[in-house]
Amino acid sequence: MRLRNISGSRDVIAESPYVVQEPQQYRGRWAELFGNPNPIFIEVGMGKGQFLHTLAARNPANNYVGIEKYSSVLLRAIQKMETEELPNLKLLRMEAEELTAVFGKGEAAGIYLNFSDPWPKDRHAKRRLPSAEFLARYDEITAEGAKIEFKTDNRALFDFALEQLPRSAWKADVITYDLHADETLMQGNVMTEYEEKFSAAGNPICKYVLTRRL
Ligand code: SAM
Repeated sequence: MRLRNISGSRDVIAESPYVVQEPQQYRGRWAELFGNPNPIFIEVGMGKGQFLHTLAARNPANNYVGIEKYSSVLLRAIQKMETEELPNLKLLRMEAEELTAVFGKGEAAGIYLNFSDPWPKDRHAKRRLPSAEFLARYDEITAEGAKIEFKTDNRALFDFALEQLPRSAWKADVITYDLHADETLMQGNVMTEYEEKFSAAGNPICKYVLTRRL
């Protein structure tokens, strides 16, 4: 998802109270930043923020951090906060490869990946957010009992994501190839922007939920 480069978006981000500037300085101290010890959930590749904003509004006893690499996209998440400010949601403009420089060991309670970019060329496989390389980063920054939840309509990416698991610390507790047809899994499901678009087009949505192997 790359919107037109919206002029001035970098300035808006630099001045926004909803965006954490220089997030590395909070490594190991995110509870201080939020002002409470509540669990912290991270969406990697948040896009315009609909999913995380809804989740944060519904769950005030949790904290949420949305990570997005493009300023023009992050701007949309900032605008949602301007319309409805939430104290338990922080936004970061950063490249997800830097996750372990920004979050300390075990600092996150869970990770959400929604409609991650497919990076279809083999030589770019390590850039895919559900790759074994990224799963190792999530392992480092998440607490005991953490879950990773991944949704996509891209079957090739989903199959790749499942193939990565034996090379990782994670196992799948839930796998579905048609989330919207599963009444139980749909309970409490929060739709992302892409999920709305692709499910409306008739694409089945795949989802897994991972927990750590012993
Ligand atoms: N999660 C949203 C949804 O489901 O509607 C957005 C999906 S969009 C296809 C993927 C988003 O992830 C884009 O906005 C992209 O810029 C962001 N993204 C992809 N790779 C990233 C990375 N390595 N670090 C940070 N953001 C990333």
